[in-house]
Amino acid sequence: MLNKLRSVLGDADVLTSQAQMASYSTDWTGEFQSHPVAVVRPRTAEQVVDILRIASEFDVAVVTQGGNTSLVGGSVGGDWPHLIVSTRQLREVLTVDPATNQLTVSAGYTLAEVQECARAHGLEYPIDLAARDSATIGGTVATNAGGIRVVAHGMTRVHVVGVEIILSDGEVIDHLHPLVKDNSGPDISKLAVGSEGTLGIITAVRLQLSRPRTAAWTALIPVANLDVAIDISRAIGQQLLAAEVVLTRTANEVAAAHGLPMLSAETRWWLLVEGDAELPSSLLPDATIVALQPSDVERLWKYRELHTNVISHHRDVLKLDVSVDVDQLPTFIARVEEAATRHGVHEDAMYFFGHVMDGNIHISLIGAGIQRRALSDAVMDIVVEAGGAISAEHGVGQLKGKYLPLVRTGRELTLFNDVRQAFDPAGIMNPHVLQQ
Ligand SMILES: Cc1cc2nc3c(=O)[nH]c(=O)nc-3n(C[C@H](O)[C@H](O)[C@H](O)COP(=O)(O)OP(=O)(O)OC[C@H]3O[C@@H](n4cnc5c(N)ncnc54)[C@H](O)[C@@H]3O)c2cc1C
Repeated sequence: MLNKLRSVLGDADVLTSQAQMASYSTDWTGEFQSHPVAVVRPRTAEQVVDILRIASEFDVAVVTQGGNTSLVGGSVGGDWPHLIVSTRQLREVLTVDPATNQLTVSAGYTLAEVQECARAHGLEYPIDLAARDSATIGGTVATNAGGIRVVAHGMTRVHVVGVEIILSDGEVIDHLHPLVKDNSGPDISKLAVGSEGTLGIITAVRLQLSRPRTAAWTALIPVANLDVAIDISRAIGQQLLAAEVVLTRTANEVAAAHGLPMLSAETRWWLLVEGDAELPSSLLPDATIVALQPSDVERLWKYRELHTNVISHHRDVLKLDVSVDVDQLPTFIARVEEAATRHGVHEDAMYFFGHVMDGNIHISLIGAGIQRRALSDAVMDIVVEAGGAISAEHGVGQLKGKYLPLVRTGRELTLFNDVRQAFDPAGIMNPHVLQQ
């Protein structure tokens, strides 16, 4: 198999030594380790076709990897025989069609590069998240990424108008055409969004760009509790571009680690909000920090965006990304705190931050002695009782498959498995992802 792969890709793009494969074999959280037969790095869609044909011939599983920023173990394999197909070198196309304001881009470009290309054409690609410089556009489509602008613009699925996806037998499904209207049956492109590498390898995508909505002001506001944060965000109305919450304690951990001014500890939470019209006068009590200049805006966002980084320096972290109805968020967090305390997590070792108006909270619970599996189960029970989602935006990966039956009916799971089998009869595409 390796000789065939080398004949397609050349020696330099078939990595087999531990040292060469190291950065591809561990996921971003350090929780999941892969022991691949090889890491292959195609540069063209044709090479992806050949790789998939070879993997099918030798019946070896394929784990597709973009920027490897998955937080649920989706981008790496395990102890079983597999190839990691890194899509980062897929950079054949990056063009904007002025007739439709649609951008066609190969899967390996980063989210930041796509945003920059849109800006250069006076347009906007509004999906944005802290891993923008590493996450690939293919990975964001494969995970239906959310991020910090969902409250104003929706998730990735809204913006994808077409994909090129290559199936495990090497067949290319090409929906990158410029037709604005095409109702010729169900839309395979939308099925590829959020498929987490289980249906095929996305080699290029076509995205609808939009007229830019630029932040006119950014404010960091101390809030006593989440109900206040929600009320303030709602009062901002249609101009709201982002609404993020952080705990004062953890924001100050970020501040200490990155040389930022400490935030007042008089309130438990801080709310970061942005709008694209006039700053509402109600947001100007003395303690509010408002930024209008880009460098100040960047500084305020660091309190929020560096959370994942700071948490990654801790060991024994249980990380969960979930969502509930916005109005249930305060009660939900209180219940998670109770459960975590019962499982021996100290109050100072609980992190809650996230996209408040999406009802999406990122939970990190830290402790050497905690029974992570039992605690994770307890949190998911609370999510389900609240009618929430076991994954808000990071996907299911290898981490959360066992919770799928809590939120999907047996019939739904059977339908998804049937779809998966129809796309990938050999069952080689990311076989341990999205599995119960
Ligand atoms: C600091 C930090 C902040 C983050 N913030 C957010 C956030 O706000 N919102 C959010 O939604 N996520 C966030 N994430 C998670 C992550 O960045 C996203 O899930 C992102 O979309 C993954 O892109 P990637 O290129 O790194 O994909 P990878 O991590 O490499 O892969 C993710 C999944 O997609 C599949 N995949 C990747 N590329 C392809 C392809 N071309 N074809 C088919 N399948 C593919 C993989 O097999 C895997 O299942 C964050 C992560 C970090 C580290």
